[in-house]
Amino acid sequence: MCRGLAPIQGRRIVSAMLPRGRVRPLAVRPTARVLCRRLAGRAIAGVHRRGKRVVIELAASAGRPREWLVIEPRMTGLMLVVDPPTTEHVRLVVSLAGRSPRQFLFWDRRGLGTIRLVDDRGLEAACGGAKLGPDGLVVEGDDLRRVLGSSRRAVKAALLDQRAVAGIGNIYAAEILFRVGIDPRARCRRLRQDDWQRIALETRRVLAEAVRLEGSSIGDETYRTADSRPGRAQLRHRVYGREGQPCRRCRTPIVRIVLAQRATFFCPACQQRVERRASRRPARCAAHAKQAKAPGSCGVGRRG
Ligand SMILES: [Zn+2]
Repeated sequence: MCRGLAPIQGRRIVSAMLPRGRVRPLAVRPTARVLCRRLAGRAIAGVHRRGKRVVIELAASAGRPREWLVIEPRMTGLMLVVDPPTTEHVRLVVSLAGRSPRQFLFWDRRGLGTIRLVDDRGLEAACGGAKLGPDGLVVEGDDLRRVLGSSRRAVKAALLDQRAVAGIGNIYAAEILFRVGIDPRARCRRLRQDDWQRIALETRRVLAEAVRLEGSSIGDETYRTADSRPGRAQLRHRVYGREGQPCRRCRTPIVRIVLAQRATFFCPACQQRVERRASRRPARCAAHAKQAKAPGSCGVGRRG
């Protein structure tokens, strides 16, 4: 999304408006009128991402300090530099001076997204360390273990907690845990240090791949890139949206459950219930059988 918005960098905003339609109104701060007045005439100094938020940097001008337009797309929000899929769900239109693109838009079918214009302090409050943990593209196992290691929560629900790690959504949480081979219902406190290392590694890999493939366009194909093309990351989904279809690794049908109110997909054969792991491992691990080592002292046969 942010890469698609890069062409607006360095451009000047002529005007902004928040169309009022029949659709559910969006959460906007400050008021629509004040927001539009403060955007007009500003230069766009940069386009940034903080977790799952787009942050547009507005240069200081005419006595106004530097400000930040923070847009959180949530479930169905799109940032576009071309014509929107429908006009009724256009939430913000920002007209730009000069050459193409002539404008950028925020479009949101369900209207769960938010738009905020904040100063430096407001940005810290909205996207600082109290709200967002380390970014998923660079997160380390120790970051996750420090925050989640003693939690009783299911690991999949915990990975969606943006204060623990920023940038993982429902689709990628399922994909990360499939690649790690851990059941999404596993309690965080049952995971070991090397589990957190592998979760962090696969988080970085899965998110980097999704960024490279420009996101996942699934089901109703709501998600589009900024120039209104579908993403391609859905072609790499191994569990998400594949209920009843054979696991790509072992052919066991993929299962769908609801966990913490979110649809959750996993392979019951490839993804371990870590609670059972200690008693199952010695029988499966040749090194244990030979040397009669205590479970946990050997890294062999991690996937069983
Ligand atoms: Zn499988």
